[in-house]
Amino acid sequence: MAVSDHVDFNGFMEGVKRRNPYQPEFVQAVQEVAEDIFDFIGDKEEYHEQQILRRVAEPDRVVSFRVCWEDDQGNIRVQRGWRVQNNNAIGPYKGGIRFHPSVTESVLKFLAFEQTFKNALTGLPMGGGKGGSNFNPKGKSVREIMRFCQSFMTELYRHIGADVDVPAGDIGVGGREIGFMFGQYKRITGHFTGVLTGKGLEYGGSLIRPEATGYGAVYFLANMLAARDMNLEGKITVISGSGNVATHAAEKIVHLGGKPVTLSDSGGFIHDPEGLTLEKIDWVKAHKTHRRGRIQDYVEQFKGARFHEGKTPWHVPCDVALPCATQNELLGDDARALVANGCIAVSEGANMPCDLDAVHAFKAAKIMFAPGKAANAGGVAVSGLEMSQNSARRSWSEGELQQMLKDIMHGIHQRCLTYGDRGGGYVDYVKGANISGFKKVADAMLAFGVV
Ligand code: GLU
Repeated sequence: MAVSDHVDFNGFMEGVKRRNPYQPEFVQAVQEVAEDIFDFIGDKEEYHEQQILRRVAEPDRVVSFRVCWEDDQGNIRVQRGWRVQNNNAIGPYKGGIRFHPSVTESVLKFLAFEQTFKNALTGLPMGGGKGGSNFNPKGKSVREIMRFCQSFMTELYRHIGADVDVPAGDIGVGGREIGFMFGQYKRITGHFTGVLTGKGLEYGGSLIRPEATGYGAVYFLANMLAARDMNLEGKITVISGSGNVATHAAEKIVHLGGKPVTLSDSGGFIHDPEGLTLEKIDWVKAHKTHRRGRIQDYVEQFKGARFHEGKTPWHVPCDVALPCATQNELLGDDARALVANGCIAVSEGANMPCDLDAVHAFKAAKIMFAPGKAANAGGVAVSGLEMSQNSARRSWSEGELQQMLKDIMHGIHQRCLTYGDRGGGYVDYVKGANISGFKKVADAMLAFGVV
C-alpha cells in the first residue's frame, strides 16, 4: 500500500510550512488551493498514490541570481533576480516578471503557483512560471530602467525560450521594459523568437494584450451576473489600483454601462461620485504612465472628486468591486464592510488581492466572488494568443482577438461551474477554479509517470 501524502489537511499544511519557512504568501496560496483539492481527491486513489498534491506544491525549480547595474550617478547597484519555473506539465512555463521592492522568493513562488492553475483554466497549452526582482522602478530614469532590464536579461536569457519558458509583464514591467528585455535577448542570442509576450506591435506583439487583463476581469464579472440574470447597467463599481489592469477594467465597466467611482495607488484612493468617464480614464492612463504621476492629482483635474490619503476604497458603498492593485490589499474587515454595504459581486483583477479571511467572509455571505486565477486570466490568455501568432508568423485582427478573449473568459466561467456549482443558485467560484485548474495539470502529470 502506497504511503499517502495527505493523511489529513493539517498534516499536509504543516509540511508545506516546514519546507517553506518565512514564505507566508506561498503558504497562503497553497492553503487556498489545498482546502478545495482535499475534498476533491478524497476518494481518488491514483492522485494519492502518485503524491500529486505534494508534487504540485513544489516548484520544478527556482533560479535566483544577482543583477548588477550602474545608476545615473555612476554608483554600482546590486539587486536580486529570480525566475520560478513552477510546472510545465501542460505547456512551456508562462508568466510575468514583476519589478517591485516587495518582491521576494515567497511572492514569486505564490505567483508562479497561482499562474499554473490560471493558465490551465484558459484552456491554452501553457505551464506556470513567474519572475522578477526587488528593483524599484519608481524614481528611476528611463536609461536606468534600460540598464537594469539589460542586466536582468543577461542572466535570464539562458533559462527561457519560446518552447521553454515565456515571460511577460506584471507590476513594474510594461511594454517599455519588455522592449528593453526583448532587445537584449535578441542581441545576446541572435534569435528573433516569441520568447516574451506583451511585446510592441512592431515586433511581434498582439493587439488587445494591454487591455486584456482588465477587460477579462470585467467579462468574468458580467458572466457571473448573467448567470443570475443580471448585468452591469448602472452598477456602482469600486476599483483599486490605477495601472494597466485597473484603468482597463474601469474602461470596460463604462463600455458595459456601469459606473466606476474609485481608483487608487500606494498614496490613497480617489472617489468620484459622478463616475469616471472614458475621458477621465484616459487622463489617468497618461498621468500614471507617461507622466508617472500620483492618483491624488486627479482631484485637481476633476471637480467633485475627493482624495482619501493612506486609505483603500473598500468602505465606499458599491454594487460590485474589482481589486486590481496587488496581493493582500483587501482584508477580512474590508470584505465584511463591502458585504454590509450591499456589494453583490467581487472580481479579482490582481493576483490574490483578497486575503484568506476576506475570501472566507465572501463565501460565508454567499456573494459572487471570482478569484484572480479565473477572473484575471484574460491577460495571460491573450499572451497565449500572442505566442500562437508568433509561431504562425501572422497577426489576428482586433475584432478576432476581442471575440477570442470573450470566448475564453466565458469558457473559464463554464469550467468554474463544473466543480463550483453548489446548487440553489450559489456558485463557489474559488472551488470551481481550483479543482478545474488542478485537474488538468494533475492528469497531465499522471500521464508522465514519476518525473
Ligand atoms: N502577469 C500576468 C498575470 O499575472 C500576465 C502573465 C503573462 O501574460 O504571461 O497573469
